[in-house]
Amino acid sequence: MVRSILSFRAPFFRLKANDEVDQQVRETLVGLLYSNPLSLLIGAVCGGGLCIAAALTTGDSLLIAAAWTVGVIALIRIAILVAVKQFGMANSVASEIVFEIGAFAYAASLSVMAVLAITHDILPAAKMLLVVVAVSYATAIAARNAGRPTIALGQLLLVLVPLSIAMLLSDSTLIQILGVATLLHIPSTISITFNVFRSLRDSIVSAHSNAKFADKMQVLARTDVVTGLANRAGLNHAMVETMMAIEDDSRKALIWVDLDRFKEVNDLLGHPVGDRVLSEVAKRLSEVSPESATVARFGGDEFIVFCAVEDRKEAEKLSSEIHAEIMRPFRIDGERLEVRASLGVALLPDNGTDADSLMKAADLALYHAKVGGRSQTCFYDSSMSRDLVRRREIEDELRSALKRDELSIFFQPIVDLETGRIKTFEALVRWFHPEKGELKPDEFIPVAEETGVIVTLGNWITAQAARIAASWPEDVTVAVNLSPLQIRAPGAALGIKNALREAGLDPRRLELEVTESLFIEDNHATADFIEELSEIGVRFALDDFGTGYSSLGYINKFPFSKIKVDRSFVSGSQVGRKSDAIIRAVAEMGTTLGMDIVAEGLETVEQVQAVKSAGCNLGQGYYFSRAVPDYLAAMLLANEREQDVRKAAG
Ligand code: C2E
Ligand code: CA
Ligand code: CA
Repeated sequence: MVRSILSFRAPFFRLKANDEVDQQVRETLVGLLYSNPLSLLIGAVCGGGLCIAAALTTGDSLLIAAAWTVGVIALIRIAILVAVKQFGMANSVASEIVFEIGAFAYAASLSVMAVLAITHDILPAAKMLLVVVAVSYATAIAARNAGRPTIALGQLLLVLVPLSIAMLLSDSTLIQILGVATLLHIPSTISITFNVFRSLRDSIVSAHSNAKFADKMQVLARTDVVTGLANRAGLNHAMVETMMAIEDDSRKALIWVDLDRFKEVNDLLGHPVGDRVLSEVAKRLSEVSPESATVARFGGDEFIVFCAVEDRKEAEKLSSEIHAEIMRPFRIDGERLEVRASLGVALLPDNGTDADSLMKAADLALYHAKVGGRSQTCFYDSSMSRDLVRRREIEDELRSALKRDELSIFFQPIVDLETGRIKTFEALVRWFHPEKGELKPDEFIPVAEETGVIVTLGNWITAQAARIAASWPEDVTVAVNLSPLQIRAPGAALGIKNALREAGLDPRRLELEVTESLFIEDNHATADFIEELSEIGVRFALDDFGTGYSSLGYINKFPFSKIKVDRSFVSGSQVGRKSDAIIRAVAEMGTTLGMDIVAEGLETVEQVQAVKSAGCNLGQGYYFSRAVPDYLAAMLLANEREQDVRKAAG
């Protein structure tokens, strides 16, 4: 019987949407049957109680038996309701069937009560009460159970059809009229029930499709369009999920793959080819990685493979397979193309216990792989320390520092030890970083040299220094430090000449400080640079003398006008008789060759006296002044001129 009701209902109320939606709607609507137990409770208690009360007043044994049946069914239904709620089975098919049986049994028993009341000769009040209970139950329940129309209509028909027939067959005209009215009640209640059902169903279907749409959008948002791999968001999501489900002894490897010089592929062959290379790399990565791995494209030409591994050995094996796969030549439109890659690998839990620290470790390892000459794999090691992190940050930020006006040039005077007058200002670059504060040139100049930024930076420094020096008195010169890389860059001499011309500075007022390291390599470009600029009057100073290569050969070979004896001979830990002797020897050589000898790093009056008596003619150091901004340099010069005027005035 139950099966036949279910099978009858299925095609009749089949929804347009697919089975999955159908199922969802069904579950929600069945849930509604049990959702408001109070209304059922009140209905059952009132119905059962009233029937028993009315039946008892009649003394009719059939009615009394039927009334008790109503009461018992009501109690059983309440018990079932409590049990279903208790075990959280409100949405199941079984609970729907149980509800159905209970509902029909209860409706049938009320119907029997009402029919008996009409057909038996009992008190009019009892008659009225039993009929009212049955009719009001049937109409109220149709609205309440509209979510499952079969149940609602079944209940309605079970009560009202036998009752109206009994009424129509009655010999009282009034009751016959009532029978007609009750019969008419049936279609109107059916229509209301269906209306309620349809609006319930539609709102559930639309909520469901909204949720599906949101799911689809989420998948799209986590997918990289070029390669079909997970994108950054997808990777984050996968990593968070993995980390949450992680077990104590599980090990994972995060392999960060960066294609070397991929920009060149894009620039030379165009973006469409670049995209195809990326897709091919993605395909190879997916094939070579374990089934359960998350493979993601992390940005331009960077990929990440995140997967479970047994141990470090397995991670090593996998990363070398990945490396080999990427290096295998590509064929695109018949063209052979080779791509190289650097890999950085970090292991969980050894190198990090959360997604963030693991990413940082792999990123550092990758950076190491790239700095170490590219096309290699580096595993994270704790020695890839903060220094590297800081260097990396500096590298990134240095490029924009110039544009953001964070760099400026300070000037430190070089003083004639005899007269105490300023002969030269050495230009020293300063970086005022908005977060890190003042950065020392020793921290960022080497990074600028390594990354090649020094060329742009150096040109800017020379241009600024020349511009400021042009405003000083004619007899004051400016010294600018040059890195070897800057000198060897194409067009280096031209850059200096342009700076001089634009600033309107006499070339004889510019001095370029170079270090001994420049001469380690016998380089034509260096010799040409020095020669070309010397010809127009630019002078050269040998900086940090005594710290490095220290071959006197090049002093002879190149036209140096000045030697700067390194600070370590003046104020360093090795200062003593030996260093004093060296300073003497250098000073003597300088005098013979007609060069100025500068002692660097003078901090005390004793040091000044010592280097002076050793034969140095110029001095630089905190004793005279630290490096100061241009306006203070101008003030120092103005003070000197004022003193001159006073002296002259006597
Ligand atoms: P350097 O060419 O030997 O410059 C002299 C350094 O010694 C400066 O440090 C200066 O502030 C410091 N100094 C001067 N007098 C004393 C003193 O009495 N005691 C002590 N302890 N130190 C003193 P700074 O400005 O930090 O520059 C460090 C190095 O950075 C420079 O050494 C130079 O090699 C490089 N550098 C600075 N500015 C530039 C630049 O514009 N271009 C290039 N290529 N390198 C630069
Ligand atoms: Ca210098
Ligand atoms: Ca120096």
